[in-house]
Amino acid sequence: MSLSFEHVTLGQRVLFGHGQAADHLSAEVERLGAGKVMVIAGEREVEIAEQVAARIDVAVWHSDVVMHVPVEVAETARRKATDNGVDLLVCVGGGSTTGLAKAVALTTGIPIIAVPTTYAGSEATNVWGLTEAARKTTGVDHKVLPATVIYDSALTLSLPVDMSVASGLNGMAHCIDSLWGPKADPINAALAAEGIRALSAGLPKIVADPQSIAGRDEALYGAYLSAVAFASAGSGLHHKICHVLGGTFNLPHAQTHATVLPYVLAFNAPHAPQAEARAAAAFGTGTALEGLQKLREQVDAPQKLSDYGFTAEGIPETVCIVLEKLPANNPREITADNLTALLTAALNGDDPAVLTGDVQYAQ
Ligand code: NAD
Repeated sequence: MSLSFEHVTLGQRVLFGHGQAADHLSAEVERLGAGKVMVIAGEREVEIAEQVAARIDVAVWHSDVVMHVPVEVAETARRKATDNGVDLLVCVGGGSTTGLAKAVALTTGIPIIAVPTTYAGSEATNVWGLTEAARKTTGVDHKVLPATVIYDSALTLSLPVDMSVASGLNGMAHCIDSLWGPKADPINAALAAEGIRALSAGLPKIVADPQSIAGRDEALYGAYLSAVAFASAGSGLHHKICHVLGGTFNLPHAQTHATVLPYVLAFNAPHAPQAEARAAAAFGTGTALEGLQKLREQVDAPQKLSDYGFTAEGIPETVCIVLEKLPANNPREITADNLTALLTAALNGDDPAVLTGDVQYAQ
């Protein structure tokens, strides 16, 4: 088989080490020659941010963080950064916090050091997102890619188990969607497969013992790989659906991804034999869906969208918006009918196998 593809690797410095975030941050602030640092951390993350920033001078603290980055929240943060002459942003927190730093960087060009405390993976992508009038817009811009990412599993020990599971499955969704995203390629597939392996090893350890450093390290490592693969492959069907559910219906990001993933996998996998085989091998199971469902059962994953406030009335609008933004190269044709079936099954927590259609897995 001959190979022919184009792959872009994003340039970023990654520092990984348990208990080393404060040292890594002070060395990075010095290396980048920053004079005025603004630390962005949501209310629940401020305590962690204070520990991380203990060895640097912080000119401005900002804690008004809102999920899916409403434009007015972004505007306030941008004004604060420019009014204070900030020349470096340090974000400490989950994807919402990273997202706000990216929104500031998008219009100001101020560089970012990201210190993630969940497994959302936004820190390793050049994708930004903003929400206005119940519509989430995303875009790609090199300015929003953090210059440095500092991973420290000690900062994730306080992440509650249910949020750790949902967030880890958000990382898993990056891996699986990367296998058939519009720019899927063999390099993304290799990163995604290792991401699947690391996340499926780490998450059960976290559930068994939330203080497990090995579990937390594996999950963070898997989350990084998942995001690198996703940044290169682009948004596939799973991300297009979850993006609408988050932006239009304000559903919680990680839980939505965790719930919808088995349905998109069941929908696409029989039509994407190579992706299916790669994911199955990474899970170490007969089929990818079997591996994902086994893991979901082990970690007591979120089950149905109705648990997060979604209702059947929202399905037609979701279908309508997703159909306007269909990803290129999805392995299965997407229609209003089969998308409605997928969302209905995810709403009610039905067995995802109902979505495999008339195509059977190769034995
Ligand atoms: P989040 O950042 O909103 O965090 C979820 C909750 O966990 C928050 O209440 C937060 O304060 C709390 N939290 C975070 N870390 C904690 C810790 N260590 N201990 C205790 N509590 C902690 O949610 P998320 O799922 O990390 O991120 C979701 C957002 O990220 C969405 O807006 C999504 O669109 C965005 N995102 C963007 C990309 C991208 O590439 N641009 C990728 C993934 C996610």
